[in-house]
Amino acid sequence: MSYDMCSACDKKAIDVRTEIIERSDSKITKWIVCRCEDHIDTNVEEMRRLLRLRQEEFKKRLAK
Ligand SMILES: [Zn+2]
Repeated sequence: MSYDMCSACDKKAIDVRTEIIERSDSKITKWIVCRCEDHIDTNVEEMRRLLRLRQEEFKKRLAK
């Protein structure tokens, strides 16, 4: 997935990136969240949720 794209939709991202470090039991996951103009005010939790959905979609597409 390109970092030039918004994490939540297919629009071009503007240059605002948020790094999220997520710790679960044994592993640390780093997320880079990019936002387009529409999602500039979207909070991190919501961005992460949308990013996850997009990644699931992406995997499904690759599997076909
Ligand atoms: Zn967006």
